Amino acid sequence: MDIRIGLGYDLHRFGPGRGLRLGGVEIPFPLGLAGHSDADCLIHAVMDALLGAAGEGDIGRLFPDTDPAYKDARSTALLASVMERLKKAGLEVIHVDSVIVTEKPAVAPHVPAMKRVLCPLLGVAPDRLGIKGKTNEGVGAIGRGEAIACWATALLRKKG
Ligand code: MG
Repeated sequence: MDIRIGLGYDLHRFGPGRGLRLGGVEIPFPLGLAGHSDADCLIHAVMDALLGAAGEGDIGRLFPDTDPAYKDARSTALLASVMERLKKAGLEVIHVDSVIVTEKPAVAPHVPAMKRVLCPLLGVAPDRLGIKGKTNEGVGAIGRGEAIACWATALLRKKG
C-alpha cells in the first residue's frame, strides 16, 4: 500500500470586525480571526497537512495572500479545491487528526458541527476526522487570548 503522511500548522491573531469561523462553522464569540481569507485556522492547517502528504506544496503557494481572488475567501471552498487536486493525483484520505489550541472559546461543543461540514469535503466518515480543543494553560500569546493555533495530520492512500 502506498501511504503518505502530512503535517500542517497555522496561527491567526484575534481581531475585531468579523465573525469567528473555525472548521467551516460560525462560532459565537466577540472576536474573529484576522487574515486575508476567512482566516479559518483549522481548515488552513488541515489543507497544509493534505498538501504535505500529497507533495503538492502548501496553501501559501496555492492561494497567495497577495492575490485579491482570495480576499475573504471561504476556506471550505479552498479545501474543496485541494481535494480536487488530491483526486487528480489518485490520492484519498484515510484519516485526519487535528488540535485547536485556544484559551477561548471552548471547542468541544462545536466539534459535531465541524465534522458535519468537513467530513463530506474530506470524503471520510466521522470517526476518521479528529478535532480536539486544548488551552495553552495561560502561557504565551495564545494563553493571553491573542491568537488561535491549529495543528493537523493527514494520512493519505494512493489508489491503484
Ligand atoms: Mg492561515
